[in-house]
Amino acid sequence: MSAPTVYLDGQYLHRSHATLSVDERGVHFADGVYEVVRYFNGKAFTMAEHLDRLKRSLDGINLRCDAEAVAKISDELVQRNGLTEARVYWQVTRGSGLRNHVIAGDLTPTVYLSAEPAQPLGDEPELPVISAITTMDDRWHNCWIKSLMLLPNTLAKTRAVKASADEAIFVRDGRVTEGSSTNVFAVFDGELYTHPADRFILEGITRNVVIDLAKELEIPVQEQAFNSVDLPGADEAFITGTGTLLAAVTQADGNVIGDGQAGAVTQQLWQAFIKRVQNDCSTS
Ligand code: PMP
Repeated sequence: MSAPTVYLDGQYLHRSHATLSVDERGVHFADGVYEVVRYFNGKAFTMAEHLDRLKRSLDGINLRCDAEAVAKISDELVQRNGLTEARVYWQVTRGSGLRNHVIAGDLTPTVYLSAEPAQPLGDEPELPVISAITTMDDRWHNCWIKSLMLLPNTLAKTRAVKASADEAIFVRDGRVTEGSSTNVFAVFDGELYTHPADRFILEGITRNVVIDLAKELEIPVQEQAFNSVDLPGADEAFITGTGTLLAAVTQADGNVIGDGQAGAVTQQLWQAFIKRVQNDCSTS
């Protein structure tokens, strides 16, 4: 549930007073992009990376907006809501104009930010363990853009939940791309595999932190797609994301992965990830 104060087009206001035009292109065409940033101890984790990705997404759809200003509003919104642990959603759309496929050049972007309270990490947080289904990746070929057009993702995630699983893992041409709102990793013979950051996945900020940590820990990393048929035979699998952080995947389509528990490499990366957060977002 969103915290009471939101930001919309220059104003901080109560969410019940925030209204959008019926001509909003975000509503008609999902014509916009977004980011989600996690705050720990009142500090944004990997803010610079989120800001960079927002700029890439904006460029990707030819939308001009002051991304740096959005990042400042994000910090202010967390403070105004009195939050220290939060997920902040940044949404930038093309703005409103009469419904037309052709994008007019004179539109003013709509900027909307809302904050959601989150659970503090605690000193020794436990690694979450989840189950997944695999499902056809029927999305467009520009998944690197963090587009508001999330219908394939929401449908896939809903299919997962209906099948009593936690996440849907997309498969394109037989290969695992990513989750409905996460990136996917698997361990085969001590090496970490994940899909390359091309146009078929969102280049997750958490994904990149984990790759960085793996390199520090001297775990070999292959940014190389693996086949979905090989997933049940992986030694370990896990997902990453700003909301999820990191979660071990111990079942896919009902098949047990590894020994059915979070594996050693996943645990090692989880510990390193927690340390990174505690270090980057400490209050001292
Ligand atoms: N892939 C998709 C499709 C996502 O929606 C997300 C969540 N933003 C991710 C991957 C993970 O990215 P990040 O670690 O930046 O949250």
